[in-house]
Amino acid sequence: MREIIANSFVEIFSQEPLLAFAPGRINLIGEHTDYQEGFVFPAAVAQGIHFAIQKNNSKSARIHSLDFNEDFVFDVKSFSPKKGHWANYIMGMVSQFKQAGYEVAGFDMVFGGNIPVGSGLSSSAALSVGVGTAISGLFDFNIPKKSLALYAQKSEQLFEGLNCGIMDPYASAFGKADHALLLDCRSNSHEEVPISLGPYCLLLVNTKVKHKLADSAYNKRRSACEESVEILSHTFPDIKTLRDISETDLPKVKSILSIELFSKAKHVILEDVRVHQAGESLRRGELVKFGKLMKASHESLSKDYEVSCKELDFLAEESWKKSYVLGSRMMGGGFGGCTINLLENEYIPEFKESIAKSYFDAFNIEPEFIEVKPSDGARIVK
Ligand code: ADP
Ligand code: MG
Repeated sequence: MREIIANSFVEIFSQEPLLAFAPGRINLIGEHTDYQEGFVFPAAVAQGIHFAIQKNNSKSARIHSLDFNEDFVFDVKSFSPKKGHWANYIMGMVSQFKQAGYEVAGFDMVFGGNIPVGSGLSSSAALSVGVGTAISGLFDFNIPKKSLALYAQKSEQLFEGLNCGIMDPYASAFGKADHALLLDCRSNSHEEVPISLGPYCLLLVNTKVKHKLADSAYNKRRSACEESVEILSHTFPDIKTLRDISETDLPKVKSILSIELFSKAKHVILEDVRVHQAGESLRRGELVKFGKLMKASHESLSKDYEVSCKELDFLAEESWKKSYVLGSRMMGGGFGGCTINLLENEYIPEFKESIAKSYFDAFNIEPEFIEVKPSDGARIVK
């Protein structure tokens, strides 16, 4: 893949490029906790986007997307968002760099990769972080990874109008082979946790659905959490977000909030607890325990937080029935996308065959299987 990108750069622009790479990400556990300044547990994966870039001594950025087979040119001194277009993620990053005082001059770029778009591996974060890494390397800006992650988040918020969290670009920037990142979404700092899966592996199953409800439900859940914090702050004056409520406070919280708000708050509060328990389990190599936490996370997201859907529930429930599966849960915001599954390597073919058949029988859709492995984060390759 890297060679294809480098070769097509030479073919189009007739000069030698600098090469960069940025990966997609998974999230082991910790869903809908980020916007309450809680904890998440992502890892970068091997799938990602490759970039070939070089200065062109002009004030234009000339870009070729290999995957979309499309060119885009913009003036680095003056440009505006083009909603829904891939070039937005690039212009958004250039805009962030400029705001931070970095002088971005004209450049040529070819890029392409192997992250399935929109299936929950965060191809958009890989694109943003990769562009940032490539430009920072090209112009010797030496921008720290955390700044790249924050620029990528801001870029997507401003240029795509998406109220996204820090997790995706952070994981793409900081990923480390055979490790996951226990990320604190308040301090934006992380602990690396070694992941040793032995005879087990992580496999995503893509439902191939994306229900329309997703965006409005996401905003509603965010508001519900904020409303709970507002109500609870009369009794717990020191809290800023639900992250500040401990598990032992739950009975009190239950007596204060409506049933509806309580079930939402409970998910966020206990999901934070599960992230820490998962970190501890993986440090100790207790995969069975980790698998149980995955299941508990799914049940909470489905029943209490109500962001699952029948396809995700079906895949998780089918997987739980199998003795060689240690854990399965929906991954990402919900209402579609993938489940993440922890299962024994040697049963992968059997799992795929059985799940593909039962899922097709139930929904008339061929699911997609994506093998993932905790891998290194964004980097300059050469
Ligand atoms: P995801 O969940 O994969 O991040 P998004 O909808 O957030 O999905 O972002 C997908 C968008 O990112 C695509 O529509 C495209 O604009 C851009 N993108 C991602 N990967 C590529 C790629 N390989 N080439 C060009 N654009 C890409
Ligand atoms: Mg995205």
